[in-house]
Amino acid sequence: MAFELTRDKAFFAFSPDVPPVLRVTQGEDVVLQTHDCFSGQLKTSHDTLEELDWSITNPATGPIFIEGTKPGDVLRVDLLEVKATGPSVMVTIPGAGALGDLITEQETTILEHKGDSVVYKGKVTVKQNPMLGVIGVAPAEGEIPNSTPGMHGGNMDCTLVTTGSSLYLTVGVEGALFGCGDMHAVMGDGEVVICGAETPGEVRFNAQVVDIADMPTPFIENDEIVAVVASAGTIDEAYKLAVDQMHGFLTAVAGMTVNDAAMLMSLVGSLKFCQVVDPLLTVRFEFPKSVLAEYGFEMPR
Ligand code: CA
Ligand code: ZN
Repeated sequence: MAFELTRDKAFFAFSPDVPPVLRVTQGEDVVLQTHDCFSGQLKTSHDTLEELDWSITNPATGPIFIEGTKPGDVLRVDLLEVKATGPSVMVTIPGAGALGDLITEQETTILEHKGDSVVYKGKVTVKQNPMLGVIGVAPAEGEIPNSTPGMHGGNMDCTLVTTGSSLYLTVGVEGALFGCGDMHAVMGDGEVVICGAETPGEVRFNAQVVDIADMPTPFIENDEIVAVVASAGTIDEAYKLAVDQMHGFLTAVAGMTVNDAAMLMSLVGSLKFCQVVDPLLTVRFEFPKSVLAEYGFEMPR
């Protein structure tokens, strides 16, 4: 495959000040490589975190300047293919993650890739669901490290960010300065030990501005559902933001009444964890497209 960007074209913070390494037009397919979140530094179980250069963790490939995009535009990124090339690595870090108080030993484990699965310690075979942990655009100002999720996207670690899904982001600067990385061959919701199956990978996508007023972002769409993604300092703040944003979408964009949106969110919507281990915590609220169709609403294409 010919890559427009190889994985060495990486950046470590979303910022208007990071110069783009590629310019593309809207709707043009882009194929790129991504590093794993350790920039490939952990190759065997003997490679421990003591020798790790933390300054090159969480690389994203890019930034990519998308022509004709300007601040305030809603950009739809269609993920045509998210492919994990392996092998994957997982680690434990004493004190880190949701189980940090119980973990006393650092461990590095390499997971073999076999067909469309990964194999944990030769014992547990898990079907892949390759997803991008870090994906976003530059904020209007300032610098957001790739480790941190937010309104710009970033380290959302959301299992819905996979082949066939569309991610909507609000552009902060001219050209958007899009980038992605931190692929997980598979990960459970929550990412509790602080990683998924961290893998290098290949991504094919295109991006275009869509004209949808009052669109909450980050927003994800696949064949079955739409979802809002919200990050905050606590889960309480994050879930309130997520339910408010989905309610805003259902009323302002899909045209439901306040009470219909609220009752249907409670009846068929799902509030789920993305991750609870990054500097801000991320949740999502999912809502079925079949119910949007009952209200005569379809996502514009
Ligand atoms: Ca991540
Ligand atoms: Zn990761």
